Amino acid sequence: MNFTSSSSMLSSLNFGKKTERVSLDFVLLSTSKVLSTKIICKVCRSSNPIISELCEECANSLPSAAEKLEILLKRVKVAKKKNIEIDATTECDICGVENPMDAVICADEDCAEEMTRLSDEDKLVKLVEAFKRLLFTNA
Ligand SMILES: [Zn+2]
Ligand SMILES: [Zn+2]
Repeated sequence: MNFTSSSSMLSSLNFGKKTERVSLDFVLLSTSKVLSTKIICKVCRSSNPIISELCEECANSLPSAAEKLEILLKRVKVAKKKNIEIDATTECDICGVENPMDAVICADEDCAEEMTRLSDEDKLVKLVEAFKRLLFTNA
């Protein structure tokens, strides 16, 4: 490796550090749909808050909490691939360690207590809050 190529490599590294914050904002802007907490009604195609049970437009029922939870968890995965970390975790009631939302036993091996089972509705509300927190802190 000659001097020219190593110095250009170095400057590109510095460049990456400096623009980290900017590029995250850019990513957020370009992927705002993945951070959406809306759901499209299958009947009339209008956009509804994901925690709604009925479509605001046509009053048809929206998917179940379990299905909507699955949709949001998929968005979390897609966002993660885009380097956007959505906090899809829940704290252990005993030791306070953060566990994946579907954990049955606390991940802390000294604790290993059974996690409080959240209903799909509770998980959905928690996830929506995590989405909104992320959007808010990056606004
Ligand atoms: Zn509808
Ligand atoms: Zn614990």
